[in-house]
Amino acid sequence: MPSMSLEAIVSMLDDAQQVVVFSGAGLSADSGIPTFRDGATGLWNNVDPDEVASIDGFLRNPRRVWNWLLQLKNLVDDRRPNAGHQAIARLEAICAAKQVTVITQNIDGYHARAGNEHVLEVHGTIHHVRCHRRCGFADSWDHRAEEPYPCPACGAPVRPDLVMFGEALEEEVFAAAEARSVSADIFFCVGTSLTVQPAVRLPMWAKSAGAVLVEVNPHPTPLSPTADYSIRSGASQFFAALCGEVESRPLQTGKRDDRAIA
Ligand code: NAD
Repeated sequence: MPSMSLEAIVSMLDDAQQVVVFSGAGLSADSGIPTFRDGATGLWNNVDPDEVASIDGFLRNPRRVWNWLLQLKNLVDDRRPNAGHQAIARLEAICAAKQVTVITQNIDGYHARAGNEHVLEVHGTIHHVRCHRRCGFADSWDHRAEEPYPCPACGAPVRPDLVMFGEALEEEVFAAAEARSVSADIFFCVGTSLTVQPAVRLPMWAKSAGAVLVEVNPHPTPLSPTADYSIRSGASQFFAALCGEVESRPLQTGKRDDRAIA
């Protein structure tokens, strides 16, 4: 990455009060978790997302969806957050005087595991199950639960607590993500192909509300023409370099309050 861009971004971070990191599957690629659309890697090969990750697929064949997601959960449990997650967690710690929020489409839980405290998981998590009818039953996903089972409270199917294709997002979580996005001074959009609605609207809302939009992705995306900066780099490399640069110089606490000077 050209050092000028890094310096420019650090300088904008100096001035920022509200920082958002919006992440997708590409961030976890270096952990060995296959992305959704990069094709060649195992998990998503030879599967139809409609069959294994949609609500219609689940209602048609709960066992198939459960087994496939359990395979993904086992992989997530076996792997760990990578240098990108760790650098983003460090960024939150270093910028303690700012509001740093992670909004993630990922369901792997790696941001929290890396140490980020302010994380909004807009697509839920693979680590919990809940009653499909939302009677109130929820639990962690015990790896021994290899088959779908009825809710112990009401008998409805128990399902992974993530948003499947064809389902609405949790209103409360998405509203919080929207609020953070429109108040962001700088909005990093990392490792996402920007194809899953409605989460992909967040960067545009942030930009319209005045945020500087920084895309981190080795490949162009539909957001690239709009982004203020497109960093053609892997997430781990970029965030490690950004953190190194931030740590090497004193960071301002946030935007200057010009009214106090006037
Ligand atoms: P996607 O698979 O559609 O796109 C991945 C993007 O990441 C691509 O644009 C690719 O160019 C980029 N990328 C690949 N390697 C990268 C790297 N090292 N650094 C930065 N970028 C890199 O992913 P999406 O847009 O997040 O949408 C897929 C959906 O599937 C999401 O809803 C997500 O929740 C889900 N999903 C989650 C996981 C996970 O939790 N780890 C994994 C696969 C899919």
